[in-house]
Amino acid sequence: MRLWIKDPLAILAPEAERGIVVDGSQIVECVARGKTPIEPWGATFDASRHVVLPGLINAHHHFYQTLTRAHPAGFGKDLIPWLVAMERVWDRMTPEALAVAVRMALVELLLSGCTTAADHHNLFPPGLERALDIEVEEAMRLGLRMTVTRGSMGISEKDGGLQPDSIVQDSDAILEDSERALKAFHDPAPGAMVRVALAPCSPLAVPQRVLAESAALAERYDARLHCHLCQSLEEDAYAVETFGKRSVDLLEEAGWIGPRTWVAHGVHFNDDEIGRLGRAGVGVAHCAAADMAFGVGICPTRALEAAGVPIGLAVDGSASNDSSNMMEAARHALLLQRLRYGHAAVGPYDALRWATEGSARCLGRDDIGKIAPGMEADLALYRLDEPRFSGAHDPIAALVLCGANRADRVMVAGRWRVVDGMPEDIDLAALMARHRALAKAFG
Ligand SMILES: [Zn+2]
Repeated sequence: MRLWIKDPLAILAPEAERGIVVDGSQIVECVARGKTPIEPWGATFDASRHVVLPGLINAHHHFYQTLTRAHPAGFGKDLIPWLVAMERVWDRMTPEALAVAVRMALVELLLSGCTTAADHHNLFPPGLERALDIEVEEAMRLGLRMTVTRGSMGISEKDGGLQPDSIVQDSDAILEDSERALKAFHDPAPGAMVRVALAPCSPLAVPQRVLAESAALAERYDARLHCHLCQSLEEDAYAVETFGKRSVDLLEEAGWIGPRTWVAHGVHFNDDEIGRLGRAGVGVAHCAAADMAFGVGICPTRALEAAGVPIGLAVDGSASNDSSNMMEAARHALLLQRLRYGHAAVGPYDALRWATEGSARCLGRDDIGKIAPGMEADLALYRLDEPRFSGAHDPIAALVLCGANRADRVMVAGRWRVVDGMPEDIDLAALMARHRALAKAFG
């Protein structure tokens, strides 16, 4: 049945002042000022108190970390020692804990207006070999779109790496499970609810063979490639010291510098690397909160965009950005980028473009991230009736500038998944109680 989302207070779409029409999983019409829908509609949603955005898209996360927010093991440490300490907490992960952590992260993202999320799952201790199956099951149950990434860590302490042996897998196990996940879950078709990407933790965390064979698998299955890249200067120094090369060069040798790849952070590229990434169409997920939290620097978004790099936004893992709020991520990106480039160079509409179209490009999707006929009906609707918005003039800019925190309604693939600020089909209080109880095992 056609649904007319009618007369929004404001909408981030051209010529849609009277709203949009949704049929099935898609937007079929934008209704311009003074018009009514061309085809008959069966139902109407009065959006006169709502600002309507395309659903926000989170381009990088580590869902399992919701169980280790604000964790004292990480206090007082810079990025690499923090990672070393936290990995010795995360290796206690069990299938039950992961399922509940994923559910919590998805609900939290959904409530902020996020409709598609990429999760970089790189934790496969013994017993958790089927982590991706758990993630897919949870995403299907909640009805969010996901790019589930088959992460990996392959160089342990005994081989001179940073990771404990307990969470490192051998190359054959990584590659076999990568292909299994692609076969089982990856849907490259438009409108897909689940896609799989291959995502070694970083070019420094796996043998070169895993990088190269992952690129070949991605090509074969029409999937994408993802990793952390150039987050800190220490990481750059470690790459040169250990491998005799910079991370970007390691990726290039493995066939990764191409349009299938998007990377997280991308703070410390040199000018030559920015040019190479831009020409190749590699995307960058800007993780403003985590970069600020670790004081690693500021992603050069403007230089990257000028070179042709798609910029998306991400909340990053819940142990580094202790919350998973995509609208907050847009605000963080706006403020941090202004710190680098100035007030005039970056505005709230840039932040929203990165959080929608930009992240969609990172994930290789042209069916989400915009409100237009033929696009998937993924929408986030916010109300401006909280004190923080009172007196605001531009309702769309106000979401970012005043700091919208929670969507009132969220639609994914034409289905309402948040109604009146609460997730559908889930007992939020019970979920939180179970999540809190499971988190105790990580104390
Ligand atoms: Zn990350």
